[in-house]
Amino acid sequence: MTKLKIGLMGGTFDPIHYGHLVAAEEARINFNLSKVIFIPAGNPPHKKDYKVTDSEHRYIMTALAVNSNPYFEVSRVEVDREGYTYTVDTLKWFREKYDNSVELFFISGADAILDILTWRKVEEVLKYCTFIAATRPGYTSEQLERKVKEVKNLYGKEIFILEVTGMAISSTDIRKKVKNGQSIKYLVPEAVEYYIIKNNLYR
Ligand code: NAP
Repeated sequence: MTKLKIGLMGGTFDPIHYGHLVAAEEARINFNLSKVIFIPAGNPPHKKDYKVTDSEHRYIMTALAVNSNPYFEVSRVEVDREGYTYTVDTLKWFREKYDNSVELFFISGADAILDILTWRKVEEVLKYCTFIAATRPGYTSEQLERKVKEVKNLYGKEIFILEVTGMAISSTDIRKKVKNGQSIKYLVPEAVEYYIIKNNLYR
């Protein structure tokens, strides 16, 4: 029996932009995913030293951005969790929600996946899902390829690399642009742009 495949798109999404949306759509098509669930990070442990925008704002912007794609959803699972949010808990939650006829894929940025061996309970994380590392076309680094091999040797799990058109857009760059009063038109969906302006984010 062929398994139903579901994509989980994990990210801080501060803010969500077209790079993330294109990555999710390309993953959906390339890996034959029935849907992609966006999971804005709640309180990311690896960002203790940065000021991350309130999770409710990031959740709403993600919901606005995915609204027009019938294959996309957004989950509050991390936003509603108390304390630091670890991917292992999120994956366990989804694993318990779906039975074994569902195969889970976790889509994230290649840079985040480079650090995967430092993640909490990495062995368990890798048991729950298959990773898709989104990267810019032509930028697949030797470092990433080494990490993919290392994970395969240590845990016998494949990490897929997905080269994504439009991944040059970055949340950091968008935040800087807003702060400097520059346009972010065509980098984020219009509804997200208006939400940022209305709520005076990133000023
Ligand atoms: P990050 O370090 O802020 O981002 C690394 C790079 O990946 C950035 O270039 C980022 O671009 C890009 N990126 C992030 N998420 C992406 C996505 N879904 N699709 C395409 N590109 C993406 O990473 P992060 O957002 O904080 O973390 C990514 C995921 O890994 C989250 O779900 C997080 O919870 C998880 N994680 C878990 C642990 C743990 O459990 N210990 C540790 C680290 C990360 P932008 O800046 O433009 O988004």
